[in-house]
Parts: sequence; structure tokens; C-alpha cells
Amino acid sequence: MNAPVAILWLRQDFRLADNPALEAAVNYGAVVPVFIFAPDEEAPWQPGGAANWWLHQSLRSLDTQLRELGSRLVIRRGPTLEALSTLAKETGATAVFWNRRYEPAVIARDAKVKAALHGDGVKAESFNAGLLHEPWTIRNQSGKPFQVFTPFWKHCLHEPDPAAPLTAPKKIPAPVKWPKSLALDELELEPKINWSEGMRAAWQPGEADAAENLKKFLTQAFNVYSEQRNRPDVVGTSRLSPHLHFGEISPRQIWHGLRAMAVKRGLPTASWRNSQFLAEVCWREFAHHLLFYFPHTPTEPLRPQFGKFAWRKDAAQLRVWQRGQTGYPIVDAGMRESWTTGWMHNRVRMIVASFLVKDLLLPWQDGARWFWDTLVDADLAQNTLGWQWTAGCGADAAPYFRIFNPVSQGEKFDPHGDYVRRWCPELANLAGKWIHQPHTAPPEILRAAGVELGRTYPKPVVDHAAARAAALQAFARIKSVAS
Ligand SMILES: Cc1cc2nc3c(=O)[nH]c(=O)nc-3n(C[C@H](O)[C@H](O)[C@H](O)COP(=O)(O)OP(=O)(O)OC[C@H]3O[C@@H](n4cnc5c(N)ncnc54)[C@H](O)[C@@H]3O)c2cc1C
Repeated sequence: MNAPVAILWLRQDFRLADNPALEAAVNYGAVVPVFIFAPDEEAPWQPGGAANWWLHQSLRSLDTQLRELGSRLVIRRGPTLEALSTLAKETGATAVFWNRRYEPAVIARDAKVKAALHGDGVKAESFNAGLLHEPWTIRNQSGKPFQVFTPFWKHCLHEPDPAAPLTAPKKIPAPVKWPKSLALDELELEPKINWSEGMRAAWQPGEADAAENLKKFLTQAFNVYSEQRNRPDVVGTSRLSPHLHFGEISPRQIWHGLRAMAVKRGLPTASWRNSQFLAEVCWREFAHHLLFYFPHTPTEPLRPQFGKFAWRKDAAQLRVWQRGQTGYPIVDAGMRESWTTGWMHNRVRMIVASFLVKDLLLPWQDGARWFWDTLVDADLAQNTLGWQWTAGCGADAAPYFRIFNPVSQGEKFDPHGDYVRRWCPELANLAGKWIHQPHTAPPEILRAAGVELGRTYPKPVVDHAAARAAALQAFARIKSVAS
């Protein structure tokens, strides 16, 4: 008699290690791993251009890994339920296993899929593979969701430690006959415009590189993370965000990787448990917690009074921001870095986001949409949190009067101007004193550096001091509505 067959429905868990759905499938019998392309089911947040580029590479890498274990990735198009039911009939599968995701549209879709499969007598089981703690297990003392980060984090630290990561299977039992699969290229995930060269140069999607990045970070940068994490001119952070988003590495692996590193070096437990780095990983948890309990927040402010904010509409200024042509070098460098590589440093994300919502008074939703399309790590929970935090309308948000000065932020966090010189090469010959504010440099300095404002590099799109005053007024009106 043939072994029972399980479908392993892969979604954002593109790894073999610490993959509970894969383990369940292997324990069940023969395994048919499938990726179902159904972006419409995630509307209005179907993956953007840069994320789709990553997805293509990640699926290819996963297929290669599966083949090394005697398996392969089957690719189908949605609707998901139809695709799973058809595949179950074709293969005789009696079980479907998957790891959970937490976006509102995905939660709703998955619940329907689970109910329908059960109705058809197919075992359907999902697992936690993407978070340290399931959102519904964490609530404050009043039984409500947290809206402030520090108590959330403290609460998480008092929870039982996340289970040790599962090891990858040595072999994945294959079905007697492989079902048909689309070719990866048929999904047309890669950009049609000439856009991916910079992403290809900057990244190697896949589980192997995710693990390598973590290892490199733990050995080279973890010790100095607190000091360097705000410096976009050095590699001071882990760059794990797209790997985490696509599930090429799990937060459990990070947690236990930190612990193992500390044990190996004889460091006290507090050195990693209370570390700034683990706190940042916990901000990711917090983002998922908020999205789970407040599923309207990708488009609506968490603080309702901000719904009345009189954002401006200015397509020309939005375009100037998107293209990195604002005349403020740290903002322009960030926007160009993300367009080229699909990633932007966290400090610079905060600066460019503040510039959009406070200097230009353009809606945070427009910024979130642009990030959604241009970042390889575009993540509904984290992107929403980041934008609402910056705009002052979200949980534990920056107060409305905190308006980043793009010049002093540049001077503080890119002190030698190396980051700006890299992404705004037209300013490369400008001395450090002027690199973050070319508009204040004397004409002879600009001439000597080959900079002609308004021609080789733009004049500032707004005067920061005046923009700041206007933003304070606009935000004060909201505050008075609230009180
Ligand atoms: C406006 C705005 C939008 C953002 N959009 C996204 C997004 O779409 N996807 C995304 O992954 N991150 C987003 N972030 C958070 C953060 O900028 C990135 O996670 C970080 O820059 C990734 O770099 P890293 O992996 O080197 O981070 P590290 O500093 O090495 O941190 C490790 C991990 O912790 C998590 N993390 C770090 N900082 C934050 C944070 N502030 N909020 C939530 N999680 C965090 C990430 O998963 C990250 O990979 C956004 C931040 C802002 C201000």
C-alpha cells in the first residue's frame, strides 16, 4: 500500500530548518510541497515589485534545496482552495499542512481554506513558524492588546522561551508520481523594466544566505550594534529583514542563535536577552501584534483623531520625494538606496518618512505604498507600524512635535558624508561641512566641487524651518481636536 500523502503549502516560510509544517508533512507520509500564486487574494496588499523579485529568487533557491533531498517545488496558480483541492485529488493527499501568516486578508482566506478542507475530509493543520509568540497569546493585565512597546517587550521576556528550532529533515519522502507544475518564469515575478541589477548585486535570497547573514552579524556586528545601528554609512545591522519576511530564517533561530553565541563566549544571559538587537526583533513581534488586533491600520490611523488631518495632495512633490530629488542629501540618498537595492537603513527610513509627512505634509499612506512597491522586505505589519509611528498616529508613536531635521540627522548619523556620497555621487566632491546642506554652501565651494544647484543637484523642495512651523501648526490642530 502507498504511504499517505500530505501537501506542504509553502507561503512565506521558504526554509527547510525550523519549519514545523514541513516536519508535520514528513511525519505524515509522502510530501508534495506547493507554492500557490494567488496575489489577488491578498488585495489590496498583494506583493509589490521589489518583493516579487525576491520571491522569484527565493522560490528558485527553495526548489534547489528540495531537489537535494529528493523532493521538488510544485507551482500552481490560485484560487488557492481550488488549487489545493485539485492537487489533493491528483495526488491522493489526505492532509494539508502550512505555517501561519498574520495579514488580515490572509487570515480570512486561510480560515475559509481550512474549513473547506475539513469539510472535504482533508486534514488541515497550521503552525507558528514566523513569530516568537502568537499574537493572541499576548495581552496586557486588563486582557487588552498592548499599544506601548516597552511593556509589550517586558511581557514577552517573561513568557516561556521559544522552543528550540527544528532541524531540517535529511530526506523528504516523494509521492509515487509528481503532479504537474508551472515553470517559475510563468509567474512573471521579475520586473519587466530594467530594475533588478542593484538588487541582484546587493542580495542573495535563500535560506543559506539568511543563515550566513546571521552568523556574520553575530560574530562581527552584534557587539557594537547599540553604537552602530543608527549609522547608514557602516554595515552595523543584520540586514535580515527580507530573509525574515520570506521566512528564510525564523525568529526562533535568531533567539537561539543569540543564546548559543553568548554561551560560547561565556557572556551573561542579560547580554543577549536584554540586548538592543533582540528588542528590535521584538519590535517586529509588536508590529504583528498590532496588525492582528487592529487590522484596519494599514490604511487608517490607529489614533482616530488623525483621520481628520488635512494632508496635502501634491503629486509633483510626492514624485520629487520618490525619486530622491528633494535637495536634502540624506533624504535623497535613502530614496535612491531603496530604489537601487530594495532596502533602506532604519534610521534613514525614519528620516525620509518624517520628511514626507512632516516637511511635505503628504499622507503617510502614500509613503507606505511607495515602500510597499520598492522594498524587498515590504511587510504589512512592520511597514504599517513604521509609517504610523513616524506620522505620530500609531502605537507608541513619535510625538507630533518630533520633526527630524534632515541636515542635523545627516550630520549626526552620516558624520563623514560617506553614505550621501555613495548614493548622491553628484555631491561626492563636496567637503564634509557642506555635504548635508549644499544649499548653504558658498558659491565658490559649490563651483570647486562641480555642484550647480538646480542643475546637477536640486535646490531644497521646501525650506525646512518654514515646513517645520507649518507642520507644528497642523499637528497642534489635531491635538486640540483630541483634547
Ligand atoms: C517608515 C518605516 C517603514 C518600515 N517598513 C518596514 C518593512 O516594510 N519591513 C521591515 O522588515 N521593516 C520595516 N521597517 C523597520 C526597519 O526599518 C527594518 O526592519 C530594518 O531597517 C531592517 O534592517 P535589518 O534587518 O538590518 O535590521 P536589524 O537592526 O538588524 O534588526 C533585526 C530585525 O528586527 C526587525 N526590526 C528592526 N527594526 C525594526 C523596527 N523599527 N520595526 C519593526 N521591526 C524592526 C526586523 O525584522 C529586522 O530584520 C520600517 C521602518 C520604518 C521607519
